[in-house]
Amino acid sequence: MQTEPQAFDRVLSSMCTEPHPVAREAAERFLATNPGDPGTYPTVSALEDEAIAMLGEIAGLEEPSGYIAGGGTEANIQAVRIARERADATRPNVVMPESAHFSFRKAADLLGVDLRVVPTDDRYRADLGAVRAAVDDDTAAVIGVAGSTEYGRVDPIPELGEIARSVDATLHVDAAWGGFVLPFTDYEWNFSHAPVDTMAIDPHKMGQAAVPAGGLLVRDSALLDELAVDTPYLESTSQATLTGTRSGAGVASAVAAMEELWPSGYRSQYVRSRNNAEWLADALEKRGYDVVDPTLPLVAADVPRSTFDALRAKGWRISRTATDELRIVCMPHVTREMLASFVGDLDRLEVR
Ligand code: PLP
Repeated sequence: MQTEPQAFDRVLSSMCTEPHPVAREAAERFLATNPGDPGTYPTVSALEDEAIAMLGEIAGLEEPSGYIAGGGTEANIQAVRIARERADATRPNVVMPESAHFSFRKAADLLGVDLRVVPTDDRYRADLGAVRAAVDDDTAAVIGVAGSTEYGRVDPIPELGEIARSVDATLHVDAAWGGFVLPFTDYEWNFSHAPVDTMAIDPHKMGQAAVPAGGLLVRDSALLDELAVDTPYLESTSQATLTGTRSGAGVASAVAAMEELWPSGYRSQYVRSRNNAEWLADALEKRGYDVVDPTLPLVAADVPRSTFDALRAKGWRISRTATDELRIVCMPHVTREMLASFVGDLDRLEVR
């Protein structure tokens, strides 16, 4: 067994990061707890209520309901499930931009809903005309992305909300990655800006909690009731989560990270990450690459595959978009020194 934990000094592709020290410590303390069984583990269950209250504050929701999920995938699946349960259609559909995360494909597959994927505009945001044309009476949910996986873009959430309302569908916002940086921007992305019904917002990404700590928020607890099943052998009477046993470590670390960092720690981290993304975009542009302007701390650039492969061979953990651009996520563990060293390697490759 390899005993060394993951080193982050060359990781430029991940949407997760090194947990904050207080999050790591809390995770260790709560390793053997299960918030899925609140009758047996009341302390971690109370912590989960705190986690949801804090996530609600971050996402502009006064009386939040929800739970700490395994990650964005589970939150997205559950949001589609809520929409399907609410919908009055024999074959419901879900409308989403092509920029939405692949977890919605899993959701559609599992839940038997049709996925209507619409194009994005020239700014990589959901094309509103295409969304309008795609919805109909059988639409159960419209999906908006607030911080897209490939380009960090934010869809026009209020407008998507209007479209969703026009066909009595839910609006789900996937802020799994963006949710902990968007409060410090001018974007209209949250429950207070638009008629958002459900949201994915993950402490284990920009929130600096330990994995697994995803977040599902719902505007109204009645939406969570759509998911509830009876739990005969537990002291609690029903369960709305997808998995039964869940990670108390994830819950405790989420609370610890948010208590420590919300809001000023997250704000200064956002500024650092944004400045790093701008610095990198500039450095790549100066070297003649086409760069997708970073609006959140994520940089995509048209770097040839051969250069990409050579950088990977040097140990850089980097990834590519569906259209084959290099993609670098400026997570909290990504420092200016790391980026300078990365660009130095790029320069040495170009000389040869
Ligand atoms: N949504 C977005 C926008 C993401 O970027 C990701 C993962 O990167 C997910 C959902 C899925 O999250 P997870 O991998 O935690 O299930």
